[in-house]
Amino acid sequence: MGLFDKNKPESHLGADTRGPYICLNCEESFDVLYHSCPVCGAYDVRRAKWVE
Ligand SMILES: [Zn+2]
Repeated sequence: MGLFDKNKPESHLGADTRGPYICLNCEESFDVLYHSCPVCGAYDVRRAKWVE
């Protein structure tokens, strides 16, 4: 019953349908951390988990 307890819950830490990074200005999400948002040009791309 407890044989699979060593599987850590990291695999479902939030549904990663969006990228881990998000632009705080236009709310576009990305898979990589851009220095500036390629969509709107803002310098507010952060990790999405920090926002929530
Ligand atoms: Zn943006």
